[in-house]
Amino acid sequence: MRIVVLGGGFAGMETVRVLERRLRDRPDVELLLISDRNYLLFTPLLPQVASSMVEPRHIVQPLRDIRGSGRFRFRRDTVTDIDFAGRRVIMTEGVERYDRLVVAMGSVVPSFGVPGVEEHALGYKWLEDGIVLRDHILDAAEHADHEPDPAARRRMLTVCVVGGGYTGVELIAELQDFFQRYIVPRYRGIDPGDYRLLLVEAGHEILRGVHPTLAERARRKLGREGIEIRTDTRVTRVLPGAVEVAGGEQVPVGLTIWAAGVTGHPALAHFPVERDRLGRLVTRPTMQLKDHPEVYGAGDAVTVEGNPTASIPIIPAALAHGRLAAENILAELEGRPLGTIDFAPQGMLVSLGERDAVVEVFGLRLSGYFAWLFWNALHLWKLVGFRKQLQVALDWGMAQFFPRDSSIMRRVSRCPVCAHHTPYRERDAA
Ligand SMILES: Cc1cc2nc3c(=O)[nH]c(=O)nc-3n(C[C@H](O)[C@H](O)[C@H](O)COP(=O)(O)OP(=O)(O)OC[C@H]3O[C@@H](n4cnc5c(N)ncnc54)[C@H](O)[C@@H]3O)c2cc1C
Repeated sequence: MRIVVLGGGFAGMETVRVLERRLRDRPDVELLLISDRNYLLFTPLLPQVASSMVEPRHIVQPLRDIRGSGRFRFRRDTVTDIDFAGRRVIMTEGVERYDRLVVAMGSVVPSFGVPGVEEHALGYKWLEDGIVLRDHILDAAEHADHEPDPAARRRMLTVCVVGGGYTGVELIAELQDFFQRYIVPRYRGIDPGDYRLLLVEAGHEILRGVHPTLAERARRKLGREGIEIRTDTRVTRVLPGAVEVAGGEQVPVGLTIWAAGVTGHPALAHFPVERDRLGRLVTRPTMQLKDHPEVYGAGDAVTVEGNPTASIPIIPAALAHGRLAAENILAELEGRPLGTIDFAPQGMLVSLGERDAVVEVFGLRLSGYFAWLFWNALHLWKLVGFRKQLQVALDWGMAQFFPRDSSIMRRVSRCPVCAHHTPYRERDAA
């Protein structure tokens, strides 16, 4: 028997963890994990990479370290197709056979067909996005520092985040902290009025799904900090140096960040199986794909038929899916009946920058400093591995006493998305 898990994120690693533990005495069962990244990314702390609060490497855990002395095999490769009839996974560098398969390849941020998103906006999903964004902000600040034209300076330092969900809100709050606490005090050519942060949301409100009192509290806090929030505003085009909103208004910006929702991974798009309107694979409540009971799905990549609550793209749901997929594969091996998903989120935590957050857990609602402490404690506890917990705790502690690190790590002349760096891109190509 050969069990193959696709994707080394929260869902995939939870599946592997449970199978590894429960199959210790079954040397006849092979366990293989395939993922295109060789680390697990702790996404809740990704906004803090952009603001230089935590070091990028501190929020990832190498998969081979997580494995430790475990016996599962790990293959770093990119899955391009699945041959359901032949029970084979096709990758860039080869083919692997399976008897049971778990598809947990996560999601991507959808462009909703808005022109210019792919070319001129930065998605915010992977570690590299955090590093690109941090370097972009710092490099724009370096240029703005000696830019004599105030309008050009303001445009360079304008960041527009599209999407008022928790990712967009946490990110813009972090950027506000970075500009206010670090950039303005250190770059003498930049005044507080020179930077502009804009959050654009197509719906009526930001933080949909969070209790209205907490969402309102978050909105007021961001507004007080000078962040412009535009709700009921649909972005119709992203241009180099501007976003166009419904009605034709073009807002000059230095960088647009696209954080508008979740859609199924494009690699899943051509699989001949049922998908929902967001491109996620449809599973039964047992996490099996509808037409292929030997294939399970888990995490952001799937939606559970008839159960939207269990299909929310958040970490606890991904863990619950992964755990159930593993349990059901074990049940199949042991000839037991399969279980069905029983998941409902227990709360919501949204950080609003340093020292502020809104939190709802088990019906209890908190905001302010204690909510922020709770946010920190919970995320630190959830970080995989003591070493990473220590590194992040030290990053947070050091940020109270020392300035954040402002060295630019990449050659930002290669920045792929922003208006300000476009001339550099042309120069590179020449
Ligand atoms: C910035 C940000 C902040 C977030 N904050 C929170 C939060 O505070 N709380 C919360 O609950 N959720 C949060 N989320 C959502 C959470 O990260 C996801 O719900 C969770 O990661 C889903 O887990 P997953 O295993 O399905 O997918 P992922 O964690 O995305 O893992 C997918 C894995 O598949 C691999 N993969 C993808 N394509 C291929 C391929 N073709 N071949 C091989 N491998 C592939 C990827 O490299 C990755 O390792 C946040 C997300 C983002 C982007």
